[in-house]
Amino acid sequence: MRFKSLKDLERDAPREIVLATLPQVVRLTDFAKAKAFAVSRLVRRVHGQAFEWYGFTLAQRSRPEIIVDVGLPTHAENQETYVSLSAEGIAAYQEALPPDRLINGWIHSHGKLEFRDFSGIDAANQATVLDYVTSLLKIPVAKKEVVIRDLALGLLGEGEAEALAAGSVTLLTDAPVRRARLLETVYGGFCYAFVIGDAGWTRQEIHYKTRGVLTGETHLSKREADLEIIPTGRILTPSDLETLETEVKERLRPVAYIPEKLERG
Ligand SMILES: [Zn+2]
Repeated sequence: MRFKSLKDLERDAPREIVLATLPQVVRLTDFAKAKAFAVSRLVRRVHGQAFEWYGFTLAQRSRPEIIVDVGLPTHAENQETYVSLSAEGIAAYQEALPPDRLINGWIHSHGKLEFRDFSGIDAANQATVLDYVTSLLKIPVAKKEVVIRDLALGLLGEGEAEALAAGSVTLLTDAPVRRARLLETVYGGFCYAFVIGDAGWTRQEIHYKTRGVLTGETHLSKREADLEIIPTGRILTPSDLETLETEVKERLRPVAYIPEKLERG
C-alpha cells in the first residue's frame, strides 16, 4: 500500500463541541430530604420494622436538576426479598403527577442495614429508571463529528449515479463541494439514584445516558456525587405527615432485607 504523502496519513481528531453540561452534583431541597427520612420513620412505625421501601425523586419540569419532593408510588407485589421497579410502574406514576412535575430519579432505603452501597439488584432497578427518565428528559449536550472514512461527494441530479456507487457514505449537494464535515447532535439525559439508611446516611449517584442522533452511538456512565442541600424553609407540617402516613400504609409493601442477597447482588 502506498501513500501519496505523509499529509494523507494525518487525520484531525474528531471535533466535539460541548453545548451543555449535565449535573455534576445532586441538588436536593431540605424539604425533600426531611421527607425521605420521615418515610423511613413512618415505615418503622406502621410496618413495625425497618424495611426497604422506594420512591421517586421529583423536580419541577422547568428545573429538572433540583429534587424538590419525594413521591411514593404504590409498590407492586414485591419479590420476597427485594423491590423491583417496572417501566410501566414508573410511567403510571409520572402520568398521575401534575404536569409541572417530573420524575428525575429514585430513592430507596436500606433500613437499619449497614450496607451503604448500591447492590446488584439496585443496579437493575437503576437501569429501568434511567431508561424511563432519559426518554422524557434529554437535552442537546454536544455536536460531535461523525468520522467518515470514505465520503463520496456528488451533485444532485447529474452526478448522482457515480457518487452513489462510490464511498461508504454519499453526500449529494446542489453545488460542487470539495470537503465536508458532518457533525451530529448528541442528546443526553441523567437521573439520580439515592440509597439512605435509618442512621441518617445517604449515598447518591448520578447516571447519564447520551445518544448520537445519527450514529445511535450510546454511552452510559455514572458518578458518585456530592449532595448539595438547598434551603427552602419549607417544613413537613402535621398535615403533610398525616398524608404521608396514609401513603406509607396504603402504598408500601416493604420487604425485609436479607444481607447476603444484597452483597451478592
Ligand atoms: Zn438497595
